[in-house]
Amino acid sequence: MKRRKFIQYSAAGVALAASASTLSGAEHITMKQAAGIEELDIRSETDVLVVGGGTAGSVAAIQAARAGAKTFLLNRGSQLGGTTTTGGVAFPGLFHAWGKQIISGIGWELVVDTVFLDGGSLPDFSVEINNTNVRHWRHQVHVNQFLYAILAEEKCEKAGVEIAYYESPQTIAKTDQGWQVDCTGFGTRRRIFCKQIIDCTGGAEVVGLLKLPRLREEETQPGSMLFQLDKANNPGRKNGPGAGTLNALYVHGANSANSRTVTAANLTGRKAVLEKVRKEKKRLMHLQPETAFRESFRIQGETVITLEDYTSGRIFDDAVCYAFYPVDLHTKDGVSPQPLAKGRVPTIPLSALIPEGSRNIIVAGRCVSSDRLANSGLRVQAPCMAMGQAAGATVALAVRMKTTPLKVPLNDIREMLVKNGAIVPNV
Ligand SMILES: Cc1cc2nc3c(=O)[nH]c(=O)nc-3n(C[C@H](O)[C@H](O)[C@H](O)COP(=O)(O)OP(=O)(O)OC[C@H]3O[C@@H](n4cnc5c(N)ncnc54)[C@H](O)[C@@H]3O)c2cc1C
Repeated sequence: MKRRKFIQYSAAGVALAASASTLSGAEHITMKQAAGIEELDIRSETDVLVVGGGTAGSVAAIQAARAGAKTFLLNRGSQLGGTTTTGGVAFPGLFHAWGKQIISGIGWELVVDTVFLDGGSLPDFSVEINNTNVRHWRHQVHVNQFLYAILAEEKCEKAGVEIAYYESPQTIAKTDQGWQVDCTGFGTRRRIFCKQIIDCTGGAEVVGLLKLPRLREEETQPGSMLFQLDKANNPGRKNGPGAGTLNALYVHGANSANSRTVTAANLTGRKAVLEKVRKEKKRLMHLQPETAFRESFRIQGETVITLEDYTSGRIFDDAVCYAFYPVDLHTKDGVSPQPLAKGRVPTIPLSALIPEGSRNIIVAGRCVSSDRLANSGLRVQAPCMAMGQAAGATVALAVRMKTTPLKVPLNDIREMLVKNGAIVPNV
């Protein structure tokens, strides 16, 4: 590879021209430079702070911004999508139940746009899952994880969301207007003043920082390291997702609670992949950068969704979206999904997204307030996206009405959700 000019600042110091020679030729891109790159301490003011730009968080941020709230999105990783992209679980589900679409809105828009830009097609949702020869995964939508992450970014930017990668909150304090959130990233210390927070970290990390109650099992479900292998005698084949067979190794004891436990899970997962490559003498075509985690902390919300609520398809008075998936608990012995009875479609109430006794904070995603078995079905991606949209709409209205999420009238939330393409139970 010939190396020519690599980085060049414009005379004004605000634009950067990268003209590195690449493997296939020199491509020139010009990017806008972040303001004040020499500064360490940054101050940001916003209406809504979304922490975690994963499956639920990117949708939450887009919804809040589309509803007119000034929105800031912090993500400690390098791209949007979370478990869908960085974890490699690029097959969101389930958007349909019993022959009918039950989850739509911004998450669905993102999934469909990704599939079509990638030249793909959607599953045939008219084929009804019967839990014998047609299993639930027939309705999962396979997406290109890279495109998904970029499209999520594009939708955020178009909606006006400000994104900060590699940063996470360290301390939080109440203010008259809402919150002061002190964050760090490398070379950055940021103080954010916001009115509302949406915690979409997957493990209710902001709720934890606030010392609000969280639920967690002593032994959690295993995580998985996803990768792709191909035959050793196929050297001409290109690397990358789709180039081999998708494999997943259970990482027992995987825990997403902090950087030390995530490091341990990644080291363990990668070591196991290396062993497999050596043993099976296959080529490693693709490896996700992180272990994907199934279970972590859940919040103790104003309502806790129980297994009975879930399997009976209870329609909560304050339901803001549906969910649909078998009860799906992975253990040391594997998993044996328990399908929902015919016609049942569980719902998620707003009060399960609100930490008990809290003000000006809401969560979305797999940390939804629920017992363990209900959570094993609620945690999948389509409901996480729907929760994200519901949380985004609720806090945007809370900002407008100068109130806390639990006090926003349900009719206003539902109206905004429907206006933004979501499906709301009983509306
Ligand atoms: C192996 C596996 C297989 C699965 N199979 C399926 C399936 O087939 N279909 C399906 O629909 N679902 C499946 N799921 C479930 C689903 O993928 C996840 O439960 C869901 O994606 C979680 O979404 P989330 O938004 O809650 O969290 P995530 O998508 O994990 O997003 C959390 C985000 O928050 C960021 N973050 C975390 N902490 C901080 C912090 N302190 N500061 C800033 N940012 C932070 C992370 O970087 C990440 O971007 C599977 C999960 C796993 C692990």
